[in-house]
Amino acid sequence: PDVWSQKERVVTEEEWLQKWEMGNIGFHKEQGHPLLQKYVDVLLNGRSGLKIFFPLCGKAVEMKWLADMGHSVVGVEISEQAVKEFFSEHSLPYCEEPVPEISGAKMFQSTSGNISLYCCSIYDLSSLIVGKFDGVWDRGALVAVNPCDRQRYASLMINLMEKNSSYLLVTVSYDPNKHKGPPFYVPESEIKSLFG
Ligand code: SAH
Repeated sequence: PDVWSQKERVVTEEEWLQKWEMGNIGFHKEQGHPLLQKYVDVLLNGRSGLKIFFPLCGKAVEMKWLADMGHSVVGVEISEQAVKEFFSEHSLPYCEEPVPEISGAKMFQSTSGNISLYCCSIYDLSSLIVGKFDGVWDRGALVAVNPCDRQRYASLMINLMEKNSSYLLVTVSYDPNKHKGPPFYVPESEIKSLFG
């Protein structure tokens, strides 16, 4: 397949915000992802009380699921609407505070303290701000990143990983000539060159 057909395609942050406003969020699933259920033991690897990162988190229900298992969850999402819908749909009280290191960014944290969602661009984060993670659930994240930003995204993710952390990545296999994305087509060869 001609993977170059999507190389120049860009979805702007404004377009993502509009998708949320219009309710054009077919990517959101009410049920936990079957692949997380299948591979959760690989993610956890017998460990408890992990710090788990959800890049480009939307209002993914798996955040609640992992938090309920006793892990601490950190997400990042550009849409404040998405973040607020997450907390309200799970009836979770939260508080909201500015992030001093990132102008305009806010952090929404469940009152219980185990779910923290940063409302900003992922490219504004660093391990100095959010620390490092024992596990990553990347569904609808790498495949939503604009192809021109993939290298930057992968470098950041590697930087946010603790030694011995596990990274579960979901991609979508299809003919990139037939759909302009997102989700974008990310072939396995590219995943190898991005993450080694
Ligand atoms: N992972 C989620 C959402 C996938 S859709 C799920 O499984 O349901 C991708 C999400 O990334 C959208 O909610 C979009 O608003 C958000 N997003 C896009 N670009 C972003 C960026 N640069 N930083 C943070 N969030 C971003």
